[in-house]
Amino acid sequence: MKYDLVVGLETHVELNTKTKIFCNCANKFGSEPNTNCCPICIGLPGTLPKLNRQVVNFAIKAALALNCEVSLVSKMDRKNYVYPDLPKAYQISQFYEPICKNGYIELDSGKKIRINHIHMEEDAAKLVYKSGDTYVDYNRGGVPLLEVVTEPDISSSEEAAEYLEKLQMIMRYIGVSDCRMQEGSIKCDVNVSVKPEGSEKLGTRTEIKNMNSITFMVKAIDYERERHIELIENGGKVEQQTLRYLPETNSTESMRSKEDAQDYRYFRDPDLVDIVLRKDQIEEIRNTLPELPDVRLKKYVNEFGIAEKEAMLLVKYKNVSDYFEKSIKGLKNAKTVSNFIIGQIFRSLETEAEKEEFKILTTPSQMNELVKLIESGKLNMNLAKKALIKMLESGKPVTEFVSESDMQGISPEEMKKLCEEAIKSNENAVKDYLSGKEKALKALLGCVMKQTRGRGNAQEIESMLKGLIR
Ligand code: ADP
Ligand code: MG
Ligand code: ZN
Repeated sequence: MKYDLVVGLETHVELNTKTKIFCNCANKFGSEPNTNCCPICIGLPGTLPKLNRQVVNFAIKAALALNCEVSLVSKMDRKNYVYPDLPKAYQISQFYEPICKNGYIELDSGKKIRINHIHMEEDAAKLVYKSGDTYVDYNRGGVPLLEVVTEPDISSSEEAAEYLEKLQMIMRYIGVSDCRMQEGSIKCDVNVSVKPEGSEKLGTRTEIKNMNSITFMVKAIDYERERHIELIENGGKVEQQTLRYLPETNSTESMRSKEDAQDYRYFRDPDLVDIVLRKDQIEEIRNTLPELPDVRLKKYVNEFGIAEKEAMLLVKYKNVSDYFEKSIKGLKNAKTVSNFIIGQIFRSLETEAEKEEFKILTTPSQMNELVKLIESGKLNMNLAKKALIKMLESGKPVTEFVSESDMQGISPEEMKKLCEEAIKSNENAVKDYLSGKEKALKALLGCVMKQTRGRGNAQEIESMLKGLIR
């Protein structure tokens, strides 16, 4: 039998607010353990939480960027469970009235992955396992999270990866999270089930917790899919449970049988008031939204004529895209800048993190100046590329590296003279070319280019050579 795969994702996005969600402690990754804590976030009795307004603003931003409705009234609830990472024995979350509902992310295929809701909640503390002991680091306790929950609309591991990449990109564009998977600032719970092809009824799902790598998420989904199918084909049944993925063996193991909402005894948190929003507050936030990646992508492809693959590389990293936008002001050909970024600059930025950061010495206005010289015909591409390398190394403007004579280009007379000289002194190459060896022309071209010290335009020289030989 053939099966359909069904996947739903619950993604936790850690917000980059200055302070935690219910207290004034710093929200900072990588501090000494237990240095960003206070009585509120370590759950001492008698303390009271106070909701951080920035968390609400970020949730609204995320809602608008993900095509969601913003609830004018939402509430905080307690999710009760006992574990050492949760000193209050409850997590403050939203269950009955989340702040955002009904959105979607559109994939490149045009398929929309619906978002059921987004809610705000606090992160739990971090447990550190060291030589047989377990330590608790409360720095992470009370860090604000948004949980973005999809409908079970995802039908392949590739779609899951694309959805997550898009979500990550959008969150970075709107500046609410840096979404660094390695640092755990974006994590995913992955729900997987299979059903007979075309069937309406969903199969029993398993949930793989805390995936923090897209590569592993893809592997985990594919593994679970095969496992479910094999179980069913052998007359067995998939058991609803919560799993952990093991990268070493590319397999999953059971953590616990699946808990239901009622296991958590959700109830309204009596310490916190309703979150009541006005429409004009929401509109004000809408006005602060930047141009989103899919809008930029369409612009780059349709208006600037950049190939889709390259346009995707530009929008993937917000800093790159912002740099590109600033550099192309007043240019006829934005594509030249795109070529420089992807062809030259990316070569020196090896890791994803480096590309994301995009710390380069050449400013957008220096880039703009360089490309303007090319467009006005003052500087040819060869020299421009050479100059760019030096610009990137030094942070100095193009005028430091090209001389007046470089920028004068080369006159048709001079070019003709150099071509004639090259033909005269390379009789063999000319003979080869005339006998049909196209390649021989390259030797002549190289010879002329050398004489022009790179000022010449290879295409023009080539066609002049052809004309002169015939
Ligand atoms: P819970 O909060 O208990 O994990 P939810 O009903 O809120 O359960 O669903 C959580 C996620 O699981 C959602 O992303 C949803 O789309 C997904 N999901 C629900 N049923 C299935 C299923 N049969 N197969 C795959 N994913 C599912
Ligand atoms: Mg779940
Ligand atoms: Zn605190």
